[in-house]
Amino acid sequence: MLITDVRAHHIRIPYDAGAGSFKQGASAIAALDIVVVEVSTDSGLTGWGDAFSYVCAKTTCAAIDEMVAPQARGQQVPDAAGIPAFMENIQRNLHLFGRYGITMFAISGLDIALWDLAARVQSVPLHRLIGACKRPQVPAYASLLRIGAPEQVAEECRTALRRGYTAIKLHETTTAAVFAARQAIGAGVPLMVDMNCPLDGPAAIAFAQACRAAAPMFLEEPVWPPEDFATLAEVRSKGGLNIAAGENACTVHQFRQMMSAGAVSHAQPSVTKVGGVTEYLKIAALADELGVRLAPHSPYFGPGLLATLQLMSVRDDGSFIEVFYMKRAACLWRGRIDADGSGNMAVPEGPGLGCEPDKEVMERYRVA
Ligand SMILES: [Mg+2]
Repeated sequence: MLITDVRAHHIRIPYDAGAGSFKQGASAIAALDIVVVEVSTDSGLTGWGDAFSYVCAKTTCAAIDEMVAPQARGQQVPDAAGIPAFMENIQRNLHLFGRYGITMFAISGLDIALWDLAARVQSVPLHRLIGACKRPQVPAYASLLRIGAPEQVAEECRTALRRGYTAIKLHETTTAAVFAARQAIGAGVPLMVDMNCPLDGPAAIAFAQACRAAAPMFLEEPVWPPEDFATLAEVRSKGGLNIAAGENACTVHQFRQMMSAGAVSHAQPSVTKVGGVTEYLKIAALADELGVRLAPHSPYFGPGLLATLQLMSVRDDGSFIEVFYMKRAACLWRGRIDADGSGNMAVPEGPGLGCEPDKEVMERYRVA
């Protein structure tokens, strides 16, 4: 079976996040930009992938068109056992364009699509290619956007619990917001705090110590820059909290540096950024070897969320799947990946990623 084409589709779905907003670089995320990667074959089977985008969707699409698609077009479709070598060859051919960032996002999109395809060839859900399903549903946490005002943070936390979520993550940088959230949800609900890399070491240690009484499950990315693993390790040892990071790391090699430095208790591979399912699996194995827990990064709603769900279903480790807390104008999966009233997401049992993308939604929300 031959790969006949690799195409990137830019989909933009508006959302309403209530009190929240989110800043990435200089731009507010005003809509959910998704780069869906479609791998076509001469058998008629299609694989679907997802390359990280947010505000760089056009750039990610260009990287797929210009760099990744020519590497795959005309090649034999690899089976699951052959995907790692197939993808390593592409990583080698493209390494001079960067081992982190847009290039790896585009590579991740192709990798996810090849795993989807490999499972579709066998008519099994993706998780069957990597292990036994240990969780037919995975508990989700509500990943709140940046809100700011502590009273609004508290209100959004209460609303999330009413909707069924059993765990919450804040994107806040003040102790007042953290304590307001804890007071709103009570002592028993897991609370995570994601800072998105604002602080130097001493400030991060002070922040962690000041948050200890609110008992966060972990403090995520307190330190700037994200690749300063030595400082992150110092914050972990002196701050007295679990530390999570990894959404800004790519490939198992950078995760090895981060974990070997003792920087994290929770590693956060993002399947649409790290190099896809292939690198994610290597990172999961390394985390197990080094005694680090996995807390995947997945604040997106394209094929990457489905891939994350499939990957988490083979691990009975008590971890939560990250779901951005927002109302979307449309769903690529006909609502089948929404958390239920108990805060759980069912692992879809269809072939590959488990669901087919809704072509009508793709066309309606396509960015030309
Ligand atoms: Mg984060």
